[in-house]
Amino acid sequence: MDNCLFCKIIAGEIPSTKVYEDDDVFAFRDINPQAPVHILVVPKQHICCARAVNAENSACVAKCFEAIAKIAKAEGLDNGYRVINNCGEDGGQTVMHLHFHLLGGLKLSEKMV
Ligand code: AMP
Ligand code: ZN
Repeated sequence: MDNCLFCKIIAGEIPSTKVYEDDDVFAFRDINPQAPVHILVVPKQHICCARAVNAENSACVAKCFEAIAKIAKAEGLDNGYRVINNCGEDGGQTVMHLHFHLLGGLKLSEKMV
């Protein structure tokens, strides 16, 4: 997808701190970390947001969560972590390529739910 920041990161056109990659998923450290571990887990397929997940593309969401479990283990998040998806304007999404924030490394506060 032209002009998508995360597609460019996945393609290696923009540098990132990669922590995980497989055929379907790319993961890298957030440039503005909100916790000691703050990793963005991204499907390689360009899907704009959670609103665009459907029966044809939802397998990559499952792949993201499989990757999250592996990354969390590799990062030592044995005591737990939080996974966040911001969707659309009201959800506060700023990069329109579906991604999951993996946050951990401390006891997280500021729960909304
Ligand atoms: P969201 O606000 O949910 O769309 O999340 C976008 C995230 O991308 C934010 O947490 C940003 O800090 C992060 N971000 C933006 N540009 C980069 C980049 N070049 N490398 C790594 N993370 C980035
Ligand atoms: Zn994209």
